[in-house]
Amino acid sequence: MTVAAVAPRSPAAAAGLAAGDRIVAINGQPLRDAIDFQFYGGDERLELTVERDSVARSVRLTRCGPGLGLELAAPRPDDIATCANKCVFCFIHQLPKGMRRSLYVKDDDFRLSFLHGNYITLSDLDEAAFDRIIEQRLSPLYISVHATDAELRHALLGRPRHSAEILPRLERLAKAGIRMHAQIVLCPDLNDGEHLARTVRELAPLHPQVATTAIVPVGLTRHRDRLPALRSLTPDEAQALVATAEGWQRRWLAELGSRFVFLADEIYLLAGFPLPPAAAYEGFPIAEDGIGLVRRFEDGFRRSVARQKRRARPDGVTVVTGELFAPRLSGLLAHAGYDADTIRVAAVPNDFFGRAIGVAGLLTGRDIQRHLARQPELGRRVLVPAVAVRDADGIFLDDLTPADLARDLGVPVTVVQPTPGALLRAIRDS
Ligand code: SF4
Repeated sequence: MTVAAVAPRSPAAAAGLAAGDRIVAINGQPLRDAIDFQFYGGDERLELTVERDSVARSVRLTRCGPGLGLELAAPRPDDIATCANKCVFCFIHQLPKGMRRSLYVKDDDFRLSFLHGNYITLSDLDEAAFDRIIEQRLSPLYISVHATDAELRHALLGRPRHSAEILPRLERLAKAGIRMHAQIVLCPDLNDGEHLARTVRELAPLHPQVATTAIVPVGLTRHRDRLPALRSLTPDEAQALVATAEGWQRRWLAELGSRFVFLADEIYLLAGFPLPPAAAYEGFPIAEDGIGLVRRFEDGFRRSVARQKRRARPDGVTVVTGELFAPRLSGLLAHAGYDADTIRVAAVPNDFFGRAIGVAGLLTGRDIQRHLARQPELGRRVLVPAVAVRDADGIFLDDLTPADLARDLGVPVTVVQPTPGALLRAIRDS
């Protein structure tokens, strides 16, 4: 593991560690990755084998709190386990050519599932990986199930060479006490209807180890040449699915003590239905998968507005979002008393990926630039959602930067975290 940074005055700094050092063993245990570091590095006194300039030395560290003040470098793309699948709905296959290399990494790595909540198929997980998950109790894991019927799942995964049977693998992990969150990417005419009902029915007995099942709609871009024919969920189908899922939730709540099945926010937005109340998300365990984010944001926004002593009166600001959330955001701002002529919500159409993609997180800098350039008035500042820019360096998916956008539009651009407090502060400060 390579050290990315060392916090000043931390145990790691006191031991003389520095960015660029390679930690190869901890208390005599060779390190494979950051999980080993966590697993073997919990003791109060640690002895690290560290390489610097190809010279190995021993470094003693004494923990004086939970952290050591060490930041480990993220794994390189070559160190990440990738999938051997060709899922019919794979988003990566639908990316146009020429985007940055990291976007094309088809990771299927249990370590990233444990560390970052990435969904994995378990399809080509070998015995050593199973043993490691169980020995190190790597839990929870996030599992792409899609269907429990083996033949259907095999077809959805693009008929890979290995077996696609999922239930025995889930049962094995469940028996070992590993918690999991299951996901179903819903493809109309393929794994919906009776197939979906069967999948949910066959996962439920694995609760509580399979803690939740998320149903998310397939996302289709306009770059699907030579890919299997698929279609998006219609608003009518979304409405029917909400009704069906409510019935399942009632049943599982009575039988399991949990609603167990949760629909993506996108499905409620597409259906034009209100989001369930916060309590129905049972603590928001899979919010990162788009399950309950809108409810959490809307409730938080109303609470933050209620706490404000006086309403900010900005001179004029444009708030960028995707087409799906724009009507909800406009409604929230209007309800909070903001004037739509002063705080304009820009519902940016996604021309890059196609109009079927309505979420803010997949907006490109050029789509935002083109849409805003057509607006008669932007006000004193443009607010763009942080979900549309990459964490590490704040660059949009098409490599434009917020600074490029500001220069092109002639208006300052602020990147705003997707929290109610951050948005209200940005509006106030505009
Ligand atoms: S598992 Fe399927 S969806 Fe995920 S990266 Fe591989 S092919 Fe794409």
